[in-house]
Amino acid sequence: MTVTRIRPRDSAALMEGYHSPQLDVEVRLNTNESPEPPPAGFAQALAAEVGRLDWHRYPDRAARGLRQGLADLHGVTPEQIFVANGSNEVLQTVALTYGGPGRSAAVFEPTYALHAHIARITGTEVAEGERAADFSLDMAEVRRVISEANPALTYLCSPNNPTGMVETPETVAEVLGLAPGLVVVDEAYGQFAPWSALELVNDDTPLVVTQTFSKTWSMAAARLGYLVGPSWVVAELEKVVLPYHLDALKQAAGLVALRYRAEMDDRVARLTEERGRVEQVLRELPCDVWPSGANFVLFRPRAIDGDEVWNRLVKDSILVRNCSSWPRLEGCLRVTIGTTDEDDRFLNSLGEILT
Ligand SMILES: *Cc1c(COP(=O)(O)O)cnc(C)c1O
Repeated sequence: MTVTRIRPRDSAALMEGYHSPQLDVEVRLNTNESPEPPPAGFAQALAAEVGRLDWHRYPDRAARGLRQGLADLHGVTPEQIFVANGSNEVLQTVALTYGGPGRSAAVFEPTYALHAHIARITGTEVAEGERAADFSLDMAEVRRVISEANPALTYLCSPNNPTGMVETPETVAEVLGLAPGLVVVDEAYGQFAPWSALELVNDDTPLVVTQTFSKTWSMAAARLGYLVGPSWVVAELEKVVLPYHLDALKQAAGLVALRYRAEMDDRVARLTEERGRVEQVLRELPCDVWPSGANFVLFRPRAIDGDEVWNRLVKDSILVRNCSSWPRLEGCLRVTIGTTDEDDRFLNSLGEILT
């Protein structure tokens, strides 16, 4: 019997899906996670909280405790916080609420692939702009894209993944002045950067800033992210997201994590210093290196093909992100900052490959 397969709608059927290949290696420096687990005490404190949950009841739908904790952290009100399953779900909810058929979203490539991907899934047209040759934002291009597309959503990513570049306060303010719709600044790596667009958020500005527990908080396994934005935006997002989308376990995990703010800041400071060391060694090798404000560094080996370098690193049981076939990033690799030992293994291996 032949089975007729039902076709998904075109915007889904034509899609590639999002891939981040995993291999079984000793040194994993490909997905920008924290190389360290949460601090000592976290697991036990969480177990105590989990023991107190009412498992037969739905979780607090408004996640009041966690939103209050995040509001205190950022000096805003809980009504200005929206929490979801990873900042990817935050971004998806924003696109479902403010994007959709007949609307468009502006992105400036190369940037985080999921901004355009999520836009397409939600039926939002993608208005694609190009960054300058050094991957900085080209304001003439921003003007062109915005005036042609009149986007409901304009995405920035600071520090930008995969380039590592931090947008300046002036740039974000200028984009805010030009954009007719909501400006979304994805700050998945915000704590590694010298400034945050959080300082521009208030109820009179159409700006939202997304952050995540996946990177700086050492909690990628939990899938927890949030945005800070005007309370009227948060109220709209709450209407669109599924009821009880954030389970009680995760709400508890987020609240316990916030007790370890000082440890998080220490870890971020250590990783930022280690990034400086890795950048410096990379610069001594025959590579182009882009300055980073995140926990990863983008580089391009000059004499050897990026794909070949990636394969030889894998042979040494070291996995970095292979961007060498991505448009605009020909020959580039992206390495996550790991522990000193992991970084040494990577740098030694790369040094042998390149010299
Ligand atoms: C890792 C990453 C995210 C994903 O965050 P989750 O909270 O794990 O969904 C979002 N944006 C950027 C730019 C990232 O690199």
